[in-house]
Amino acid sequence: MLDALDERANYSLEDMDRNSLFHPLTSIAAHMDKGPAIMDGAKGARLRDHSGNELVDCSGGLWCVNIGYGRPEIAEAAKQAILDLNYWHLFGSASNEATIRLADKVLNLFHEQANARHLKRVFFGTSGSDANDTNYKLVRYYANLRGTPEKRKIISRQGAYHGLTAAAATLTGIPSYHKAWSLPDTGVIHTSCPHYFRFAEDGESEEAFTDRMIAEIAAIIEREGPETIGAFIAEPIMGTGGVLMPPKGYFAKLQLLLDKHDILLIADEVITGFGRLGQWFGTGFYGLKPDIVTLAKGITSAYFPVSASVVSERIWNVLEQASPEYGPVMHGFTYSGHPVGAAVGLANIAILENENMVGNAATVGAYLLDGLKSRLAEHPYVGEVRGAGLMIGVEFTADRAKRTPFHAGSNVHRLVASKAVEHGLMVRALPFIEVVSFSPPLCITKAECDLAVDRFAAAIDDLTPKMSELAKAS
Ligand code: PLP
Repeated sequence: MLDALDERANYSLEDMDRNSLFHPLTSIAAHMDKGPAIMDGAKGARLRDHSGNELVDCSGGLWCVNIGYGRPEIAEAAKQAILDLNYWHLFGSASNEATIRLADKVLNLFHEQANARHLKRVFFGTSGSDANDTNYKLVRYYANLRGTPEKRKIISRQGAYHGLTAAAATLTGIPSYHKAWSLPDTGVIHTSCPHYFRFAEDGESEEAFTDRMIAEIAAIIEREGPETIGAFIAEPIMGTGGVLMPPKGYFAKLQLLLDKHDILLIADEVITGFGRLGQWFGTGFYGLKPDIVTLAKGITSAYFPVSASVVSERIWNVLEQASPEYGPVMHGFTYSGHPVGAAVGLANIAILENENMVGNAATVGAYLLDGLKSRLAEHPYVGEVRGAGLMIGVEFTADRAKRTPFHAGSNVHRLVASKAVEHGLMVRALPFIEVVSFSPPLCITKAECDLAVDRFAAAIDDLTPKMSELAKAS
């Protein structure tokens, strides 16, 4: 017994992690070899790791810490909510004040800030993935209640990320998330990834590329039969796919096509919601008319796990009219509308509003984008620097003129992200194409952006000889 205790006393935190934690989205082999990267603290847009190093956080965690780290107002709001009513639910008409107010606030923001007055009700969950599972089920429920049960397939896109629960993972269009999981066959069809820089044909204009993307969707609808397609799901800007901006005119043309065939649009705003683009929502940024909006991350800036599905009047009306016949909506979770999460969400939105963080995302985002562009524009292995607000991507290429990718497995973007950490900058390497993303807290300052650009450029300079080698092999 004593021996066992002695052994534990000499156990490092790193070893304890290796021997006890099953990490999500982690290579077990690499983890056993290198161990965890433990973070100890954070404030604003700065992180402090377990060795005491300070980093500028241009990841925002997982694109989620919109107001920045360590806000005492949120701690106070959570503490008070826990003392007042640490838990109550929403089943069978049960309710609580904070959740009522958060639903009302979210709708008001969509109505006032995104010209989306047709959005009418908010259903709460706890993650972007479960919200998209809810949406997936809602498409089917709506179809059944309307008497069109066949109209249930969902079109998604290659490169899309919609989460990793069973239905959400099938909506996700990045092959590495599907490999070896034998996901259920859920009636999801993936159309091509509308990323012009990488997937345009030689000499194809952006407008022609858009038309080709839309024609492909139209062809899928014809092939499957419009009576079988219930919804199209899209991130306004594809995040995990590589900060992929829609090509010119894409959403306007898509919306016409969907309207023509009575197909719902699900806007997955898990990243783009709550200010990241320098506007409150991607819905307003691109003038979308979604029937369902997925929210998570920025709704609480990740101080508490909360997600939401916001549904339109046309969906709500069908559900309401069918209610006497179908009975209760038999869907929901223990933590749907958690009062502490809702109080945190309200305090978070108050900070976003009172400190004009959405405006900051627009101005400081433009400053960061310019800084990255002017520093990297001439670099031989940087293909494109793009983004909106504080959602920015840097795409690497083995050949700028031909826009060819590095050969599979060179992982240039991963090398850059790791090197950046050594220089005191946290950014993320993404899993679909060779892109490093920047999604810092919306409170980041221009001075911190200058630091981020310097550190990122230093990481790239260190790796340029290695990139040359890898480019030759590509
Ligand atoms: N949808 C989008 C657009 C996302 O970016 C994410 C997560 O990154 C999700 C859904 C899934 O959210 P969660 O990880 O909270 O389940």
